[in-house]
Amino acid sequence: MKKLSFETKLVHADRKLNKPEHGAVHSSTNNSVLFEFDDVADLEAVFQGKKVGHVYSRSSSSTVVSLQTVLNDLEGGVGAVCFSTGMAAISAMFFSLLRTGDHIIVSQFLFGNTRSFMETLKGFGIQISFVDVSRADHIQAAVKKNTRLLFCESIANPVTQVADLKTIGNICEHNGIIFALDNTMTPSALLDANSVKASLLITSLTKYVAGHGSVLGGVLVDMGSFDWTEYQNISEHYKVSDTAQWGLTQIKKRGLRDMGATLAPEAAAQVAIGLETMTMRLHKTCNNALALAQFLSALPQVKTVHYPGLPEHPQHQRATELFTSGMCGGILSFTLADKVDLRTFLNDLELVISATHLGDTRTLALPVATTIFYENGLEERIKMGIDESLIRLSVGIENIEDLQNDFSQAFKKQSLQ
Ligand SMILES: *Cc1c(COP(=O)(O)O)cnc(C)c1O
Repeated sequence: MKKLSFETKLVHADRKLNKPEHGAVHSSTNNSVLFEFDDVADLEAVFQGKKVGHVYSRSSSSTVVSLQTVLNDLEGGVGAVCFSTGMAAISAMFFSLLRTGDHIIVSQFLFGNTRSFMETLKGFGIQISFVDVSRADHIQAAVKKNTRLLFCESIANPVTQVADLKTIGNICEHNGIIFALDNTMTPSALLDANSVKASLLITSLTKYVAGHGSVLGGVLVDMGSFDWTEYQNISEHYKVSDTAQWGLTQIKKRGLRDMGATLAPEAAAQVAIGLETMTMRLHKTCNNALALAQFLSALPQVKTVHYPGLPEHPQHQRATELFTSGMCGGILSFTLADKVDLRTFLNDLELVISATHLGDTRTLALPVATTIFYENGLEERIKMGIDESLIRLSVGIENIEDLQNDFSQAFKKQSLQ
C-alpha cells in the first residue's frame, strides 16, 4: 500500500487491508455482541491478551477493527482505537493515562466541550496549565517535573488560532511528554501528524471524516513516537510484549472495556463510507472557505474575519507551511459591524443553516457567545478573544456563488444607518 497516494488509499484501503469475504469491497457490518470459540483454551488466550480475537463487542468487533485498520494506515500509526464519539475518545484518553497529582498542559483555545471536561478532570486532582499554544515560549514555560501530557487542537475553533505544532512536538519529545493532538479541524488529508511528532492523534469522526452529519464517532491513533516504557502510569497488566502497544492497550482496556464508550458496528460502517470522499470534500470546503473569507472581509457589514488562509491572520505563514497544499480548513469566524443585528441577520440566511455542528457538507452558521461559550460567561469570553457578535461558519461544499448570494441578500436587509 505504500506506493498509493492518500486519496487512492481512501477508496481502496478497506478492500486491500481487510480482505472482506465474498469479494465484497466493503467490510461487512457484523452486529454480533458475542463470539464463540471451539476450544476454550483460545477463549482464555484472547482474554489474557495472548491471542488476538474478539470476545465481546464492547471491547472489539470485526467491523470496528476494519475501520481502525484503515484509519491507522492513513495516519501511518502503530494502532488505532475507535470510540462512540470524539468526546469519548478525548475523555477516555485522559482518564486512561492520568493519575491524581499529574500535571498537564492544555491549550487555552479549546473546543467548548473539551474545555468544560477539563473542569471534571480538575475534580479528580489533575493539575492543568492553560496556555496560548500559538506561542512556543508560553508552552516551554509551562513544563513541570510532573507534566505527563500536552493537549491542543491544530486549528482552534472558533477564532482559528493555529498551534505552533512543530515546536510543541519538539518540546514534548525533549521532555518525555505525551503530545496529544486533536486533529478534528485538519484530518489526515490536511495534516501529516508524523511531521509534527504528535504522539497520540485524536479525531472526531463525526466531522470531516464521516462528513454528512449522519453519524457520531471518534478515533485515537498512536503515532508510535512516544516511548511507553518511560511512562510511569502504565499498569503491569498492559505491559504486553510489543512495547509500542502499551499505551493503546491501556486505553482500549480502560476506555472501551471499563468505560464502555464503544463505536457501534453500524456507525463504523457509515463512517467508512464517508471517509472515501474525505479529501474531495475537504478540498472543496477549503477552497470555499478561503473565497468566503475574502468575500466577507470586503463587506462593510463585517468587522473582522478570522481565517488562517488570509494573509493578515497572525499565523498565516505557519498555516501555509503546516497544512497540505496550504489549505487552511473549513472553519472561519467573523464579527459584525455595530449596526448589524446578529439574530435577524442569521434568520435571514436562506441557504446557510443555523446549527451547531461542523465538517458537514452544508454550510452552517452559529452565534458563538450565546451558544457554545454561553457557560463560560462574559469575562472568560473576553479572555478567549470571543466577541459577542462572533459568528462561526463551518463551510460546506455548495457552489461558492450560491453561498455569496445568500450572505449578500441577508446583509442587504440590514440597515447600516
Ligand atoms: C466536535 C469536536 C469534538 C468532539 O467530537 P464529537 O464527535 O462531537 O464528540 C472534539 N474536538 C473538536 C475540535 C471538535 O470539533
